[in-house]
Amino acid sequence: MLTAQQLRWDAMRIFEMNWMQVETYLKGDDRCVLPIGSVEQHGYLSLGVDAILSERVSVEAAEPLGVPVYPALSFGITPYFSAFPGTISLRVTTAVELVRDVLDSLKRAGFRRVLMVNGHGGNAPVGSFTQEWMAANTDVSVKFFNWYNAPKTWAKAKAIDEVASHASWMENFPWTRLANIAMPNERKMMIDTDRLRAANPAQARAIVGDGNFGGLYQRSDDEMLALWRVAVDETRGVIEGPWA
Ligand SMILES: [Zn+2]
Repeated sequence: MLTAQQLRWDAMRIFEMNWMQVETYLKGDDRCVLPIGSVEQHGYLSLGVDAILSERVSVEAAEPLGVPVYPALSFGITPYFSAFPGTISLRVTTAVELVRDVLDSLKRAGFRRVLMVNGHGGNAPVGSFTQEWMAANTDVSVKFFNWYNAPKTWAKAKAIDEVASHASWMENFPWTRLANIAMPNERKMMIDTDRLRAANPAQARAIVGDGNFGGLYQRSDDEMLALWRVAVDETRGVIEGPWA
């Protein structure tokens, strides 16, 4: 039998737990964290940025609370980047049905408070769906939380550099940049986001160019770690509450 202390220590990533530990955990708590990201172009950075960051911020936020974290649902909704090699886009219906099956499974296991930590703006339809799912599953509370533009994290990013965008410095952490890939030193002009919204995938690729929407490509690790600490703290607060 595991002690509460051992559970606290072990219960972080669901991949580091067995089913007996989950069963024991659920006798004392009913929260879990489900990160969701995207596999899509991020300029010179990893195609996995949105999945890497949503999972990592979840794990670091949940760790002291002992709340288990599922592996990120890596694939998201990103049709506009489909002309960039390596990008994978789920249809809205696929993404929604995938999340329905996951939430049904979590409910069946006994989880009653689920925090979805989202790292990708295109996944907004999934957030709408969680509201619909909750209306039909009134014993489960699901929060859909965009970690990257939550108020404190967004304010911290803007305080570091007003121009922060997709695939810019703002997403360039030691754990999303690639070894031996040099970053341009320039401060890229913001792309025309109104044109981008009107564009098909091939046009979008032409508008976006290397993938950065605008701003510097990299800032100091000190600044990035300071931003990260704000994001981890803010995400932890959302795991803590409020819950319905
Ligand atoms: Zn991103």
